[in-house]
Amino acid sequence: MSPISASQVNLIAVSKTQPQAAIIELIEQGQLEFGENKVQEAQEKWTQICLQYPSIKLHLIGSLQTNKVKEALQVFDVIETIDRPSLVDKIAKEIASSNNIVCKEFFIQVNIGEEAQKGGVMPNDLPDLLAYIETNAPNIKITGLMCVPPADKPPAPYFALLNKLANEAGIKNLSMGMSGDYIEAIRLGATHIRVGTALFGERK
Ligand SMILES: *Cc1c(COP(=O)(O)O)cnc(C)c1O
Repeated sequence: MSPISASQVNLIAVSKTQPQAAIIELIEQGQLEFGENKVQEAQEKWTQICLQYPSIKLHLIGSLQTNKVKEALQVFDVIETIDRPSLVDKIAKEIASSNNIVCKEFFIQVNIGEEAQKGGVMPNDLPDLLAYIETNAPNIKITGLMCVPPADKPPAPYFALLNKLANEAGIKNLSMGMSGDYIEAIRLGATHIRVGTALFGERK
């Protein structure tokens, strides 16, 4: 494993449930990269802020329904949660037919702990999903993998597994690590950490 310095890690401030005032306070301190988990909440909170601060980079880190794809592509710069062919098809179709798309970067979410209730492609199915995208949606360039490890287990083995999957697929970005485990994630190769409560305090 090559050593990684903190300056190479992108800090995504996870602002879900946080009010605009708290977000703007962080922007004024220089934070430009943010994450939200719901399309509608992001539209309501961010459309105005993004006009005011054009260099904001907004990540979708929650699951995406196909009927929200159009809106998601208009408000988010990065969609981190591609996980199934039907979603790939819908995104590819919207990109081909719309002219007000903001989104340029796409990550695949991996269900790294193979948990029934979680989104993400199963680790074993990742190569097939990548091949599907390459064949059927060449306008979607996958540049990263994202995961949320099981809440009740030590995260390190899951971070290591995501790193291995990315290496095997030749994918360079790894979005992993939250308030409780971002140091471990950076140690295991995270290029993007998603931190909410450690920046904003507890969510209401
Ligand atoms: C809420 C959330 C985070 C941030 O969690 P914290 O523990 O508050 O840092 C990170 N990633 C995802 C996918 C989330 O939904």
